[in-house]
Amino acid sequence: MGSTGSVGRQSLEVIREHPGIFRVEVLTAWRNAGLLISQAREFAPNSVVIADKDLYGEVRDGLASLPIKVFAGEESLVQIVESDTIDLVIAGIVGFAGLEPLIGAIKRGKRIALANKEALVVAGEQVTTLAVEHGSLILPVDSEHSAIFQCLKGERMSTVDRICLTASGGPFRGWNRKELAGVTAREALTHPNWNMGRKITVDSATMMNKGLEVIEARWLFGIPASAIEVLVHPQSIIHSMVRFTDGSVKAQLGNPDMRLPIQYALSYPERLPVAFSPLDFSEIPDLTFETPDLGNFRNLALAYQALEGGGNLPCVLNAGNEVAVGAFLSGRIGFAEIADVNDYCLMHADFVKYPGLDDLKLTDSETRVLANQWIQNNPS
Ligand code: NDP
Repeated sequence: MGSTGSVGRQSLEVIREHPGIFRVEVLTAWRNAGLLISQAREFAPNSVVIADKDLYGEVRDGLASLPIKVFAGEESLVQIVESDTIDLVIAGIVGFAGLEPLIGAIKRGKRIALANKEALVVAGEQVTTLAVEHGSLILPVDSEHSAIFQCLKGERMSTVDRICLTASGGPFRGWNRKELAGVTAREALTHPNWNMGRKITVDSATMMNKGLEVIEARWLFGIPASAIEVLVHPQSIIHSMVRFTDGSVKAQLGNPDMRLPIQYALSYPERLPVAFSPLDFSEIPDLTFETPDLGNFRNLALAYQALEGGGNLPCVLNAGNEVAVGAFLSGRIGFAEIADVNDYCLMHADFVKYPGLDDLKLTDSETRVLANQWIQNNPS
């Protein structure tokens, strides 16, 4: 799901390297019909889905000479992941939009390679409970969570003292609020270590990405917020660490290349050779660490606040942030105002302590209205 995105394209690179092991059954995109068609021509899936129905004709015509079924619309995304011929679903859609297809796949007991962190932020309890009920194994694709998953292998959860999520700190590490106020979209879209989609790149720059990852880790590993620590590590070589009750610390290291965690999630529990250079200790610079600046990068503090408040608050934060990032990229708000929108939404959204999935859908749509109200009332 989301084959035309950054995670999706890198997943296809991994699959291209191992043609005897993986076969693509379905590819999906939202609006990038051209890339979906060319991916389908190369990987010959059974079906493709274009989520934007207006582009159905273009995709159908582009694949007319091939025996590939073409579907369109968001409901087709949910239906297609239920196919019996699918063993594993790569959840590579960005944002709330990925939640329903993810739940559809989990309810059919599929193995999930999860990149779509927003789905776990919004509905972590519901998603992980359904996964247990339906025997669906969720394997993290996010490099930090893949690192933690690897560190926890063979360990008892009762012996885990703390999880330490590393963060690059993004391109504006060390900047103050005044400097951050002048950041342009172009600057925010230039990440020092990782080449990713637009939303996650902006989230990395505001530290919201790390906040979303804290919430993701809480649900993936069943660890309370108080035992999840964030450490800024600008080189992005240590992908995350776990400290155990005896004081021992395990870390997973590697070059900052998403193909590694993607491949591990696809091949788990096997490890396959990689087609790119592994980490060479003789070439790496010093490894340094700092505590995060929660005063200037308020999104990380807001994420802890939402997680500790519980209920629908993480869903509120996610929806506010999706709207705020979109508004920043289209020039309607400044960079530092992304946190203002998120803060406003957390303060003004209706709180629901025990939300079901329908409550979360309502929270998502109502929060988007709130966020847009703030943006209209505070023109940049
Ligand atoms: P991109 O924006 O590059 O790709 C998103 C994908 O989702 C595209 O295929 C896009 O289709 C599709 N999509 C977007 N909106 C919809 C929608 N409404 N309905 C159906 N499909 C949709 O994002 P990334 O690949 O960077 O990120 C994907 C997820 O993985 C995010 O949750 C991100 O946080 C997470 N992640 C990403 C990493 C990275 O290195 N990129 C690292 C770790 C986690 P189209 O191309 O047609 O618009």
